[in-house]
Amino acid sequence: MRGLMMDYQLSIPAILRRAQAQFPHKTVTSRRPDNTVVRHTYADVLERARRLAVALVALGVKPGDRVATLAWAGHEHLEAYLAIPSIGAVLHTLNLRLHQDDLAYIVSDADDRVLILDESLLPLFEKFKAQVNITHVVVISHGAVVSGTQGSVSGCGRARPDGTFDYEQLLASADASRYVEPSIDEHDAAAMCYTSGTTGRPKGVLYSHRAIMLHSLAQGLRDCLALAEDDTVLPIVPMFHVNAWGLPFTAAWLGCNQVFAGPHLDPESVLSLLVSEKVTLTAGVPTVWLGVLQELDKHPGAFDLSRLRAIVIGGSAAPLSMIRAYQERHGLTIVHAWGMTEMTPLGTLCNVPSSMHEASDDEKYRYRAKQGTPMPLVEIRARAESGFTPWDGQTMGELEVRGPWIASQYYGATGADPRFSDDGWFGTGDIVTIADRGCIEIADRAKDLVKSGGEWISSVLLETALMGHPAVAEAAVIAVPHPRWDERPLAVVVLKPGHTATADDLLTFLEPTFAKWWLPDAIEFIDAIPRTSVGKFKKSTLREQYRERYQRM
Ligand code: ADP
Repeated sequence: MRGLMMDYQLSIPAILRRAQAQFPHKTVTSRRPDNTVVRHTYADVLERARRLAVALVALGVKPGDRVATLAWAGHEHLEAYLAIPSIGAVLHTLNLRLHQDDLAYIVSDADDRVLILDESLLPLFEKFKAQVNITHVVVISHGAVVSGTQGSVSGCGRARPDGTFDYEQLLASADASRYVEPSIDEHDAAAMCYTSGTTGRPKGVLYSHRAIMLHSLAQGLRDCLALAEDDTVLPIVPMFHVNAWGLPFTAAWLGCNQVFAGPHLDPESVLSLLVSEKVTLTAGVPTVWLGVLQELDKHPGAFDLSRLRAIVIGGSAAPLSMIRAYQERHGLTIVHAWGMTEMTPLGTLCNVPSSMHEASDDEKYRYRAKQGTPMPLVEIRARAESGFTPWDGQTMGELEVRGPWIASQYYGATGADPRFSDDGWFGTGDIVTIADRGCIEIADRAKDLVKSGGEWISSVLLETALMGHPAVAEAAVIAVPHPRWDERPLAVVVLKPGHTATADDLLTFLEPTFAKWWLPDAIEFIDAIPRTSVGKFKKSTLREQYRERYQRM
């Protein structure tokens, strides 16, 4: 017998309806490329989102069509987040840090026809537009438009090419009251992102309305991000990186004020926005927060961050030393999170459980540096050659996950993909240990593990430990070829300005924590570690850089 409950679809328009009814006065603050700050109410943003929805339909966008964005974080981008899924179309956020050839591939693969583009990114679009089939381009300009719709010139002085639409004029020409909410099946796609493609061609992941809604609901839980109406959320994670980790959807649904940083992600700009907007929760990859920490350390007490209750860090491992430094030197709490593009993206979060309330600070920090326990509705297991690993906190295996916001296949996939198991789990490619009660610790991505003499060495644990040395700003550990052991770890280190340390100092620092055979064979000092398009350490470049030299040794 089936339950007699309403067939209420979990779809993005429910976010708009609730925000309109309950939170019209809440605010959306955006820092623009020229550094000015603009403020809107949710009522403004929702009205503009409905206009955008009407205008896109008038341009011929149909349910299921992909509408791409190539834009900085700002209220216009939020409007696109809300409008595109609300006409049944698919929001496809493009990573503006990708190479033009990758963008051309991704836009073609997704078959994007309409593009919402920030005017400062016109030169990037020009580089690949001949290779793609975009029929309508809508340009967000950050100054007043001074001439007509075709070939007009924006206030910032950049010519808008013929045939493009000005975002503001498009909105002005549309009547919000003509927005008709289509009937949306919660399993329909609402948004799309591509994986980074570090291991081959980027692959598209389609997020259903249901996935986003359930992910948002779970994000709000107290054991997750505890988001509530009195929060002010600033995603430092870009809006093209897995929907800014879902935060704009969650914040709009729960009525949080939202703040967007535009292109200004340097530590000074981030700090000034955190202070001026009294942000309560922010999120981003560790490299950003390593930079912010240096700035905070340089000017102790200069920033009033008393309202900031959580800095969510994910995408790469947050070093224990960083978690500790934020807490002890600046009274700021880091919440470590793990996720993937294929997972909408959050999978696990690390909040200290009640059983550890009496534990020592050291134990708590040790726990908080792990990636945490699965959110409700996410299930985990880890697979080793001999079968699933025991939850003993020691045995390494590949993490597998399942849940309602985890992809069941890639966009356009034909044929079986070994990452999706027959019994309905997704192989993450992350090598983990799972401790009692499901707390995971990422040892590595499978491709980054150092395989020395048949044993695995975790590059993540070595590099996060190295970043605890007072002279080290950043560290990455990679495998380099070795004639006897196949691979050995090499540490690549950036020192903090004005600090010195020798390779021996750093090895001595690591010695008490690691078995001798784990210690890097060598340490290279460099000026900067190359970054991926989402700001993580780009180990593939380092491997290429050092492979040959170590092969010859
Ligand atoms: P990209 O390939 O561009 O990094 P994703 O953002 O999907 O794309 O990356 C997901 C991967 O990032 C995970 O599989 C994992 O290897 C890594 N990752 C994410 N969060 C963490 C974390 N907190 N600690 C360690 N690794 C993480």
